[in-house]
Amino acid sequence: MHVLGAGIGGLFAARVLSDHAERVVVIDPDAREWDTSGASRPGVPQGSQVHTLMPGGLRQLERWYPGVVHQAEARGAVLPGPDRSASYVDGIGQVSTPNVNPLSSSRPLLEGLVRERTLRLPNVETAAGRAMGLVCDRERVAAVRYATAAGELVQATDFVVDATGRGSRIADWLEAGEWPRPRLERLDVDVRYVTAHFRRSPDWTGPLSGITRFSPRATSARFAGAAVNAVEDQRWAVMLASYGDDPQVLDAEGFRARCDELQPVYQEAAKGRLIGGLVPFRHPDNRWRHFEDLDRFPARLAVTGEAVASFNPVYGQGMSSAMLHASCLSEYLRGEPDLTTPARHFFELQHVVVAAAWQTSTTADAARLGLGRQQNTPAQRRTAWATRQIMAAAVHDREVATAFRDVSFMLAHPATLLAPDLVRAAARASGVPNGEYDDEYGPVGDPV
Ligand SMILES: Cc1cc2nc3c(=O)[nH]c(=O)nc-3n(C[C@H](O)[C@H](O)[C@H](O)COP(=O)(O)OP(=O)(O)OC[C@H]3O[C@@H](n4cnc5c(N)ncnc54)[C@H](O)[C@@H]3O)c2cc1C
Repeated sequence: MHVLGAGIGGLFAARVLSDHAERVVVIDPDAREWDTSGASRPGVPQGSQVHTLMPGGLRQLERWYPGVVHQAEARGAVLPGPDRSASYVDGIGQVSTPNVNPLSSSRPLLEGLVRERTLRLPNVETAAGRAMGLVCDRERVAAVRYATAAGELVQATDFVVDATGRGSRIADWLEAGEWPRPRLERLDVDVRYVTAHFRRSPDWTGPLSGITRFSPRATSARFAGAAVNAVEDQRWAVMLASYGDDPQVLDAEGFRARCDELQPVYQEAAKGRLIGGLVPFRHPDNRWRHFEDLDRFPARLAVTGEAVASFNPVYGQGMSSAMLHASCLSEYLRGEPDLTTPARHFFELQHVVVAAAWQTSTTADAARLGLGRQQNTPAQRRTAWATRQIMAAAVHDREVATAFRDVSFMLAHPATLLAPDLVRAAARASGVPNGEYDDEYGPVGDPV
């Protein structure tokens, strides 16, 4: 079996395939010499940006690599826990909840550890090369083509996972083999990030992880959001995000000035010595390739991670999503599927995960860009009303905030937020008079 791409998605896919294959080959151009220095690598240019692993991902990480969280901590990763994590919406600190348990480290530390553990499996190996296409035979993938330093190779395979990330060429490869291209859904967001690292003082007793978001109505256009993490080597990683129409800060002085406009943890971080330079990154759009609705698709092919969907990174869902896709792959393969037919069941399972993450991240993006869905029917208006109650109460009410964070952290499906009891609790917590919502679900009548 073959995995194309050795990012987080590819490594997790290899881990899952190793339970089902005699031999798993992970092909990646960067496999020529895996860098263990902790620097980010060419194939993952976003690796120098702040990367927080959400609790949903943390659960998957420990599921597939037992003991790895401990190993990460031993290498300097930080688990700040609820007491030393903070989140702010429109400048207001959100109530602390027990489910706030992110992993905070550099992306190279986490990926390096996952790579080490994956390559330690006796039936997993890497090959240095760039995947160039697929060879199909009788409606199924039969071989992968890839370019190596010694020339192009064609290697027979009995299952392929494309995990080549956001820039995946899978649609072109399918088209070249006269298969339909998956529909591409896009939302232009044009978010610009800049990350800087600072020396961290051991004397700081405040939050070790912070995330700052602004609701569409509060945006001053200066920020799309911000994140600050204590990471290994006594460093802070600080990321500022802005929308395209806002001039990006690319100098240390301007970066510090913006941190001064944020909460004290950003000011604390930015007052340390700057380590390295400021690293910018642009995320032009959220993308979703809809494999689940293709009517023709080759058998023995799966696609995971950002090759399927890539979201605004400010919501920190990317790595957790890729890990959950691997669990969908496991569920599919454990069902002993007929490998002469397309992996439809896998794509159905994955669709639930992708749709949930897409909903969480693009709803806020769309609202900010003035593209919010029209609430045309009473049912849609009731749902919007319920969502507003949840969002408002999640700032200060512990029960509602726990449920809300379960969804943001990819521990629960967004549909859980519309449970009648929770909506009622949110309405009560926000002081909506009793008579204005019914016991069944939401507001009495048709809210505007
Ligand atoms: C600014 C920024 C901040 C982010 N912050 C967070 C965060 O806080 N939390 C979070 O969970 N996520 C975050 N993300 C998202 C996260 O980086 C991605 O979602 C995640 O890396 C996706 O993993 P992947 O394996 O699908 O793709 P990638 O990690 O991009 O890996 C793709 C791999 O494919 C290889 N490759 C490419 N082409 C080929 C080819 N033709 N043949 C073989 N190999 C190939 C590359 O070398 C690479 O190894 C952030 C992203 C950005 C841009």
